[in-house]
Amino acid sequence: MERELAWDSYNEKEINKIFDFSEKYRAFLTNCKTERECVAWFVEQAEAAGFVSLEEAMEKQQKLKVGDRIYVNRMNKWFAAFVIGKKSLEAGMNILGAHIDSPRIDLKQNPFYEESGLAMLDTHYYGGIKKYQWVTIPMALHGVVAKTDGTVVNISIGDKPEDPVFGISDLLVHLATEQMDKKAAKVIDGESMNVMIGSMPLKNATEKEAVKANILQIIEKTYQIKEEDFLSAEIEVVPAGEARDYGFDRSMIMGYGHDDRVCAYPSFVALSEMKEPEVTSVCLLVDKEEIGNEGASSARSLYFENAVAELLNLSGDYSDLLLRRALQNSKMISSDVSAAFDPNYPTVLETKNAAYFGKGLVFNKYSGVRGKRDSNDTNAEYIGEIRRIMEENHVFYQTAELGKVDQGGGGTIARIFARYGMQVIDGGIPVINMHAPWEIISKADLYEAYKGYIAFLKEA
Ligand code: MN
Ligand code: MN
Repeated sequence: MERELAWDSYNEKEINKIFDFSEKYRAFLTNCKTERECVAWFVEQAEAAGFVSLEEAMEKQQKLKVGDRIYVNRMNKWFAAFVIGKKSLEAGMNILGAHIDSPRIDLKQNPFYEESGLAMLDTHYYGGIKKYQWVTIPMALHGVVAKTDGTVVNISIGDKPEDPVFGISDLLVHLATEQMDKKAAKVIDGESMNVMIGSMPLKNATEKEAVKANILQIIEKTYQIKEEDFLSAEIEVVPAGEARDYGFDRSMIMGYGHDDRVCAYPSFVALSEMKEPEVTSVCLLVDKEEIGNEGASSARSLYFENAVAELLNLSGDYSDLLLRRALQNSKMISSDVSAAFDPNYPTVLETKNAAYFGKGLVFNKYSGVRGKRDSNDTNAEYIGEIRRIMEENHVFYQTAELGKVDQGGGGTIARIFARYGMQVIDGGIPVINMHAPWEIISKADLYEAYKGYIAFLKEA
């Protein structure tokens, strides 16, 4: 079915609104390049919007009532926010879920070394990347170093205009005869993705590795941390620079980490605009999606279930049975990015079932590889309900698969929450350049997703 572009339906006022919304998103994307930076930002926004932490509510033994606003921060990498609805929790929740981790290059635990007068950092990449895309571009270092005395030092260098940048080198074309014959997967060797961080030796140094010693001295002076402190650190090497408007018409945004912050951001904004919803509204933002949803801060952890148990307890009627009902009676949009049609690579998508820029929020009945394996295949009846909600609220939406049959594929967090028996559908925003250092989205799709999320949360 050929649908018109959402842009065709907007008047000038609406276009201004979309551009204003997109500008706020662009600032968020520029400032939040790690899951930790996202959680810190969402906590700050939540507190400003009247949410209190679950711990504070428990401390005060707050008796939950309609309109109460609670947020949960776990490990500074996992975040959930709730707006209590008119119906009991037992009746279920309307949940917007997304992930806030993105593909990147992580430092190893023992990263520092010196080779031929150059100081280097050893890395281990995170998530599915085409490694050749991540070399020769300016990179920044973002993360934390946890010291043995319990203090945690934040590091963020490479993104301010006055900062130095870092990067991974690539072989000059003049000497690349052998390299150019390699398969794309082998062009860049994972173990050779080392970051160059210095070339100047320590003055009057006696040690052999004087360049590395100089860097360690600068780091110690700046951050009061020593080389061994990197044993307990999480430092992410990410593309340096701002998210930017894309195209003469500024209708798109290019930035690092749209996957999946482009779904996380409008989910949170939509939730924070709920006042007294019929059903308890939830925004759930998880970590570790890009490496398979394992670990305490991932979708598979019990943090969400535990948080709902605590809310039932604060409502004065916790039981295991009520918890199970609250989860099973819930509905979820598991939001993640979809592959958008790219005119440079038209053959990998099947055009009747592909997502397009400017056609709005995209729903995927299923994902998966090799015959829908490992995917959450959403119930037809629930899709019917989602269609009704979108159509009643004039939200532009489309449906798609991630590529042609047997072309590849991917998974999301949907099936993890479907285990509770709740209705879950994958929905999100189309992306070009997915998992590349700089991904692209359409502002119209971002705005239609936000409208769709509001409509979903308002449902009784
Ligand atoms: Mn994703
Ligand atoms: Mn991804």
